[in-house]
Amino acid sequence: MASYSEIITSMRTVFHTGKTKTYQWRKQQLNSLVRFLDENKDKLSEALNKDLKKPKMESIVFEIDYCKNDLVETLNNLDEWMKPEKVKKGLMNMMDKAYIKREPFGVALIIGAWNYPIQITLLPLVGALAAGNCAIVKPSEVAPATAAVLGDLLPKYMDNECIKVINGGVTETTALLAERFDYIFYTGSTTVGRIVMQAATKYLTPVCLELGGKSPVFVDRNCDLGAVANRILWGKTCNSGQICIAPDYVMCQKDVQDELVTKLKESIAMFYPDGVEKSADYSRIVNERHFQRLKKLVDGSKNIAIRGPSDEKDNLMGPTVVTDVTPDDITMQDEIFGPILPIMPVKDARAAVDYINSREKPLAMYVFSNDKDTVANFADNTSSGSLCVNDVLMQAGLSTLPFGGVGNSGTGNYHGKFTFETFSHRRSVLQKELKMESVNSLRYPPFTDKKLNI
Ligand code: NAD
Repeated sequence: MASYSEIITSMRTVFHTGKTKTYQWRKQQLNSLVRFLDENKDKLSEALNKDLKKPKMESIVFEIDYCKNDLVETLNNLDEWMKPEKVKKGLMNMMDKAYIKREPFGVALIIGAWNYPIQITLLPLVGALAAGNCAIVKPSEVAPATAAVLGDLLPKYMDNECIKVINGGVTETTALLAERFDYIFYTGSTTVGRIVMQAATKYLTPVCLELGGKSPVFVDRNCDLGAVANRILWGKTCNSGQICIAPDYVMCQKDVQDELVTKLKESIAMFYPDGVEKSADYSRIVNERHFQRLKKLVDGSKNIAIRGPSDEKDNLMGPTVVTDVTPDDITMQDEIFGPILPIMPVKDARAAVDYINSREKPLAMYVFSNDKDTVANFADNTSSGSLCVNDVLMQAGLSTLPFGGVGNSGTGNYHGKFTFETFSHRRSVLQKELKMESVNSLRYPPFTDKKLNI
């Protein structure tokens, strides 16, 4: 097999032929990706089930069809997105052409994470191809069955001169990051995000970093807590809470906490009437290492109001709620990324805003309230990648909203047209005619007083 350096050099040579820049090539590759998803739906669902015991419905809705919808939107709009964008002109440029030309960067590296191993790997690829780039895709080794399907089958559909899947773990990713790319799109933890950004500095490669963090929830006292409990529980149990924008912890007043726990118990009973152990709708923790990490959080917590069933042999951890949490507690240190929900009582909404502002900027923020001033307080006085009011996760389903973090939770964004924009360089073009030299002479030396007065 060729070395990474040889692979990238050969891709760059093909890129410079202009092959990937044509509308036809882009469209063809995107259609091939649609065919890959359609013809391998079962294999992909099985792999996701093997890696995470992901329920078929979640595999279809949040992985396969999610990518397909994005592909359809891209295919329907690509010719429009590719058009040069005319810009406003001043008096000096009235006779000129001025526009923004969206150009591919060249050879892109896409590094995926394991929790949504298809969506997170293929969605950036859609934008990379739509924008006319070559791409190397590195799926996460932590979801090995899905990585194997991508590695084995994707090359059968795509133009292998321009698109490659390279499987591997830290060693392979480190080796890839030592090479020169024209764009790097990374999804994963903030810690590794720093490594990626550092590697990118060598060649000043532009990056998009889709990272994580602790996404807070505030629950106001004027809410229908039954509905709130259902929505929070859904966000915390979907993929067993292994979602970058999962509600990480709740802040509310003490009496609201007590009623919310009662409602959460009712929601759990409604979602999983025979228990999560017997439910086909409940995912597992991805591996033993992550299971042990989460177990430590439960073992280190004092007030466990709801203790979900746990089975080490099966990496099963049921929904678990910890109450009366304080900022020093173990569950409040790092992103939980699992089905554990700490509830931290706060005096009021203002205290919640202050707490959020004392931490790193989160990827998502959730506010449950019927009071518009309370909602405005969070919207205007905090920062996060996204804000969703009276629900969780749903902001990610709207492709007209950019998806991404801010500060510690990431830089750059994607989904829908934003992915195309992310993988495009916006080149400024000003095109003049070689006429009117008498007017132009005003800017040439010698700078006489007469020229200044005009
Ligand atoms: P992971 O272990 O799959 O790592 C992600 C990628 O980084 C993998 O491809 C892996 O090979 C590579 N990697 C790991 N260690 C590396 C190293 N030392 N050097 C170079 N490459 C390395 O996934 P993870 O990091 O456990 O993912 C979970 C995190 O990702 C959470 O923080 C979550 O919030 C975040 N996440 C963010 C998004 C988003 O869209 N913002 C989506 C999913 C997950």
